[in-house]
Amino acid sequence: MSELQALLDVQRLDNTIDQLRFKHDNLAERASIAETKDELVSLNAGAAESEQIRDNLRRQERDLEAQASDFRERAQDFDGKLYGGAITSPKEATVMTEEIKSLRAKATDLDDQALELMVEIEPLDEALVQTEAKRGEHEAKIATLEADLANNEGELETELAKTEAERATIAEPVDDDLLEQYRKLRITYGPRAIVKFDPNKDGGCPVAMSAVELDRWKHLPAGTLEHCVDCGRLVAKFD
Ligand SMILES: [Zn+2]
Repeated sequence: MSELQALLDVQRLDNTIDQLRFKHDNLAERASIAETKDELVSLNAGAAESEQIRDNLRRQERDLEAQASDFRERAQDFDGKLYGGAITSPKEATVMTEEIKSLRAKATDLDDQALELMVEIEPLDEALVQTEAKRGEHEAKIATLEADLANNEGELETELAKTEAERATIAEPVDDDLLEQYRKLRITYGPRAIVKFDPNKDGGCPVAMSAVELDRWKHLPAGTLEHCVDCGRLVAKFD
Protein backbone atom coordinates (compact mmCIF):
# COMPACT_ATOMS: atom_id res chain seq x y z
CA MET A 1 0.00 0.00 0.00
CA SER A 2 1.38 3.41 -0.94
CA GLU A 3 1.97 5.96 1.79
CA LEU A 4 -0.66 8.21 0.22
CA GLN A 5 -3.26 5.46 0.24
CA ALA A 6 -2.32 4.68 3.85
CA LEU A 7 -2.79 8.32 4.82
CA LEU A 8 -6.21 8.42 3.15
CA ASP A 9 -7.13 5.23 5.01
CA VAL A 10 -5.95 6.78 8.27
CA GLN A 11 -8.28 9.70 7.58
CA ARG A 12 -11.17 7.34 6.76
CA LEU A 13 -10.58 5.45 10.02
CA ASP A 14 -10.25 8.69 12.01
CA ASN A 15 -13.62 9.71 10.60
CA THR A 16 -15.10 6.37 11.68
CA ILE A 17 -13.54 6.79 15.15
CA ASP A 18 -15.05 10.28 15.49
CA GLN A 19 -18.47 8.98 14.46
CA LEU A 20 -18.26 6.10 16.94
CA ARG A 21 -17.26 8.48 19.73
CA PHE A 22 -20.10 10.83 18.84
CA LYS A 23 -22.57 7.95 18.86
CA HIS A 24 -21.18 6.72 22.17
CA ASP A 25 -21.47 10.15 23.78
CA ASN A 26 -24.95 10.79 22.39
CA LEU A 27 -26.73 7.49 23.00
CA ALA A 28 -30.46 8.23 23.27
CA GLU A 29 -30.79 6.03 26.36
CA ARG A 30 -28.69 8.45 28.40
CA ALA A 31 -31.12 11.35 27.81
CA SER A 32 -34.12 9.05 28.43
CA ILE A 33 -32.64 7.89 31.73
CA ALA A 34 -32.10 11.48 32.86
CA GLU A 35 -35.65 12.39 31.81
CA THR A 36 -37.19 9.37 33.58
CA LYS A 37 -35.16 10.07 36.71
CA ASP A 38 -36.43 13.67 36.70
CA GLU A 39 -39.99 12.38 36.43
CA LEU A 40 -39.33 10.01 39.30
CA VAL A 41 -38.04 12.87 41.45
CA SER A 42 -41.21 14.91 40.86
CA LEU A 43 -43.38 11.82 41.43
CA ASN A 44 -41.62 11.27 44.76
CA ALA A 45 -41.99 14.93 45.70
CA GLY A 46 -45.72 14.85 44.85
CA ALA A 47 -46.18 11.61 46.78
CA ALA A 48 -44.37 12.99 49.83
CA GLU A 49 -46.66 16.03 49.82
CA SER A 50 -49.84 13.95 49.42
CA GLU A 51 -48.64 11.60 52.13
CA GLN A 52 -48.13 14.46 54.52
CA ILE A 53 -51.63 15.81 53.85
CA ARG A 54 -53.14 12.32 54.15
CA ASP A 55 -51.29 11.55 57.41
CA ASN A 56 -52.35 14.87 58.85
CA LEU A 57 -56.02 14.19 58.03
CA ARG A 58 -55.72 10.68 59.42
CA ARG A 59 -54.35 12.05 62.70
CA GLN A 60 -57.27 14.47 62.94
CA GLU A 61 -59.68 11.66 62.17
CA ARG A 62 -58.19 9.45 64.93
CA ASP A 63 -58.32 12.34 67.42
CA LEU A 64 -62.00 12.83 66.66
CA GLU A 65 -62.68 9.12 67.05
CA ALA A 66 -60.80 9.04 70.34
CA GLN A 67 -62.80 12.00 71.63
CA ALA A 68 -66.07 10.39 70.51
CA SER A 69 -65.10 7.17 72.24
CA ASP A 70 -64.22 9.12 75.38
CA PHE A 71 -67.66 10.82 75.40
CA ARG A 72 -69.34 7.46 74.90
CA GLU A 73 -67.43 5.93 77.79
CA ARG A 74 -68.47 8.77 80.04
CA ALA A 75 -72.08 8.37 78.93
CA GLN A 76 -71.82 4.63 79.62
CA ASP A 77 -70.39 5.36 83.00
CA PHE A 78 -73.29 7.69 83.88
CA ASP A 79 -75.70 5.14 82.49
CA GLY A 80 -74.32 2.57 84.89
CA LYS A 81 -74.71 4.92 87.82
CA LEU A 82 -78.23 5.93 86.77
CA TYR A 83 -79.55 2.40 86.36
CA GLY A 84 -77.38 0.81 89.01
CA GLY A 85 -79.31 2.53 91.72
CA ALA A 86 -76.55 4.88 92.81
CA ILE A 87 -78.70 7.94 92.09
CA THR A 88 -81.69 8.31 94.32
CA SER A 89 -82.67 11.95 93.81
CA PRO A 90 -85.03 12.40 90.83
CA LYS A 91 -83.53 15.85 90.19
CA GLU A 92 -80.06 14.41 90.04
CA ALA A 93 -81.39 11.64 87.78
CA THR A 94 -82.84 14.21 85.35
CA VAL A 95 -79.55 16.15 85.25
CA MET A 96 -77.67 12.92 84.58
CA THR A 97 -80.09 11.83 81.86
CA GLU A 98 -79.56 15.20 80.14
CA GLU A 99 -75.82 14.84 80.50
CA ILE A 100 -75.88 11.36 78.95
CA LYS A 101 -77.96 12.67 76.04
CA SER A 102 -75.56 15.58 75.53
CA LEU A 103 -72.48 13.33 75.63
CA ARG A 104 -73.99 10.92 73.10
CA ALA A 105 -74.99 13.80 70.82
CA LYS A 106 -71.44 15.16 70.95
CA ALA A 107 -70.04 11.70 70.16
CA THR A 108 -72.34 11.39 67.13
CA ASP A 109 -71.30 14.84 65.95
CA LEU A 110 -67.63 13.89 66.25
CA ASP A 111 -68.32 10.64 64.36
CA ASP A 112 -69.83 12.68 61.53
CA GLN A 113 -66.77 14.93 61.42
CA ALA A 114 -64.50 11.87 61.39
CA LEU A 115 -66.53 10.41 58.54
CA GLU A 116 -66.12 13.59 56.51
CA LEU A 117 -62.36 13.33 56.96
CA MET A 118 -62.45 9.70 55.85
CA VAL A 119 -64.19 10.79 52.66
CA GLU A 120 -61.33 13.27 52.09
CA ILE A 121 -58.68 10.65 52.87
CA GLU A 122 -59.98 7.97 50.51
CA PRO A 123 -59.06 9.61 47.17
CA LEU A 124 -55.66 10.58 48.59
CA ASP A 125 -55.04 6.94 49.48
CA GLU A 126 -56.07 5.86 45.99
CA ALA A 127 -53.84 8.48 44.36
CA LEU A 128 -50.91 7.32 46.49
CA VAL A 129 -51.43 3.71 45.42
CA GLN A 130 -51.42 4.87 41.79
CA THR A 131 -48.29 6.94 42.35
CA GLU A 132 -46.61 3.90 43.88
CA ALA A 133 -47.46 1.88 40.76
CA LYS A 134 -46.13 4.65 38.52
CA ARG A 135 -42.98 4.79 40.61
CA GLY A 136 -42.50 1.07 40.01
CA GLU A 137 -43.01 1.54 36.27
CA HIS A 138 -40.44 4.34 36.20
CA GLU A 139 -37.91 2.29 38.14
CA ALA A 140 -38.39 -0.66 35.77
CA LYS A 141 -38.04 1.65 32.77
CA ILE A 142 -34.80 3.10 34.15
CA ALA A 143 -33.41 -0.40 34.74
CA THR A 144 -34.23 -1.42 31.14
CA LEU A 145 -32.72 1.78 29.74
CA GLU A 146 -29.58 1.34 31.82
CA ALA A 147 -29.17 -2.22 30.56
CA ASP A 148 -29.68 -1.06 26.95
CA LEU A 149 -27.23 1.81 27.46
CA ALA A 150 -24.54 -0.49 28.89
CA ASN A 151 -25.10 -2.88 25.99
CA ASN A 152 -24.86 -0.18 23.33
CA GLU A 153 -21.88 1.45 25.02
CA GLY A 154 -20.15 -1.92 25.12
CA GLU A 155 -20.76 -2.55 21.42
CA LEU A 156 -19.48 0.88 20.44
CA GLU A 157 -16.43 0.57 22.69
CA THR A 158 -15.56 -2.78 21.11
CA GLU A 159 -15.97 -1.27 17.64
CA LEU A 160 -13.91 1.74 18.67
CA ALA A 161 -11.06 -0.38 20.04
CA LYS A 162 -11.05 -2.44 16.84
CA THR A 163 -10.98 0.67 14.63
CA GLU A 164 -8.25 2.31 16.71
CA ALA A 165 -6.12 -0.83 16.43
CA GLU A 166 -6.65 -0.89 12.66
CA ARG A 167 -5.77 2.79 12.45
CA ALA A 168 -2.52 2.21 14.36
CA THR A 169 -1.53 -0.62 12.00
CA ILE A 170 -2.27 1.41 8.90
CA ALA A 171 -0.52 4.53 10.23
CA GLU A 172 2.61 2.53 11.08
CA PRO A 173 4.43 2.90 7.72
CA VAL A 174 3.37 6.55 7.23
CA ASP A 175 6.06 9.17 7.87
CA ASP A 176 5.67 10.83 11.28
CA ASP A 177 6.04 14.36 9.91
CA LEU A 178 3.35 13.68 7.33
CA LEU A 179 1.04 12.27 10.01
CA GLU A 180 1.67 15.35 12.14
CA GLN A 181 0.93 17.63 9.19
CA TYR A 182 -2.30 15.72 8.59
CA ARG A 183 -3.21 15.89 12.30
CA LYS A 184 -2.89 19.68 12.30
CA LEU A 185 -4.88 20.04 9.06
CA ARG A 186 -7.59 17.84 10.54
CA ILE A 187 -8.15 20.40 13.31
CA THR A 188 -9.02 22.99 10.63
CA TYR A 189 -10.56 20.86 7.90
CA GLY A 190 -12.16 18.05 9.86
CA PRO A 191 -13.01 14.86 7.97
CA ARG A 192 -11.49 16.07 4.68
CA ALA A 193 -7.99 17.28 5.60
CA ILE A 194 -6.51 15.26 2.75
CA VAL A 195 -8.36 14.83 -0.57
CA LYS A 196 -7.79 12.69 -3.60
CA PHE A 197 -7.12 14.68 -6.78
CA ASP A 198 -10.10 14.26 -9.09
CA PRO A 199 -10.02 16.16 -12.44
CA ASN A 200 -13.74 15.49 -12.90
CA LYS A 201 -14.68 17.17 -9.61
CA ASP A 202 -12.90 20.53 -9.93
CA GLY A 203 -9.78 18.92 -8.45
CA GLY A 204 -11.50 17.05 -5.60
CA CYS A 205 -11.28 19.81 -2.99
CA PRO A 206 -14.48 21.20 -1.47
CA VAL A 207 -13.21 24.55 -2.80
CA ALA A 208 -13.03 24.23 -6.61
CA MET A 209 -9.55 24.60 -8.11
CA SER A 210 -8.99 27.33 -10.68
CA ALA A 211 -8.70 26.20 -14.32
CA VAL A 212 -4.97 26.96 -14.32
CA GLU A 213 -4.40 24.98 -11.13
CA LEU A 214 -6.50 22.11 -12.40
CA ASP A 215 -4.44 21.99 -15.57
CA ARG A 216 -1.17 22.05 -13.59
CA TRP A 217 -2.38 19.12 -11.44
CA LYS A 218 -3.36 17.12 -14.52
CA HIS A 219 0.29 17.18 -15.58
CA LEU A 220 1.77 16.26 -12.19
CA PRO A 221 2.97 12.67 -11.74
CA ALA A 222 1.05 10.09 -9.71
CA GLY A 223 2.19 10.07 -6.11
CA THR A 224 2.27 13.87 -5.85
CA LEU A 225 1.21 15.26 -2.47
CA GLU A 226 0.90 19.04 -2.17
CA HIS A 227 -1.13 21.61 -0.33
CA CYS A 228 -4.00 23.01 -2.37
CA VAL A 229 -3.11 26.61 -3.27
CA ASP A 230 -6.74 27.66 -2.82
CA CYS A 231 -7.67 26.12 0.53
CA GLY A 232 -4.54 24.58 2.08
CA ARG A 233 -5.76 20.98 2.27
CA LEU A 234 -3.43 18.19 1.26
CA VAL A 235 -4.15 16.95 -2.24
CA ALA A 236 -2.91 13.51 -3.26
CA LYS A 237 -2.65 12.40 -6.85
CA PHE A 238 -2.92 8.69 -7.51
CA ASP A 239 -2.93 8.17 -11.26
ZN1 LIG B 1 -8.43 23.14 -2.03
